[in-house]
Amino acid sequence: MRDEECVFCKIVAGEIEADVVYDAEEVLAFRDLNARAPVHVLVVPKRHVGSLAGLDGLPDAAVRQVFGAPQAVAEETGVAEGGYAVRINTGPDAGQEVQHLHLHVLGGARIMMPEVEG
Ligand code: AMP
Repeated sequence: MRDEECVFCKIVAGEIEADVVYDAEEVLAFRDLNARAPVHVLVVPKRHVGSLAGLDGLPDAAVRQVFGAPQAVAEETGVAEGGYAVRINTGPDAGQEVQHLHLHVLGGARIMMPEVEG
């Protein structure tokens, strides 16, 4: 349910400050500290799962809320009409840094597909 060392679990618990834009029973969304777009929000399940590889560890209601949250975030932050991208880094090749499942919601500019190295 919670990982004591996990920075996103600490944000969910209110132990670390975050700029929260959306809060529901199973999900929290807050602005990324290192924004890469005019709107860059992270959607996290309140229960700790490390990545998409652990999705089976979430109840169905939490999964639905996690994948429904980006549209709510887009409406809250004013980018629903212009559109937005959702990215989920999973594992080392994708550059996942925080081992707590999170969806990057990016909007407010043209969001391109990622470049591939090598
Ligand atoms: P990822 O590379 O997909 O694991 O992305 C992790 C993201 O979490 C990065 O974009 C960081 O800027 C962001 N991040 C790390 N710590 C915090 C924090 N305390 N508050 C908001 N965003 C954070």
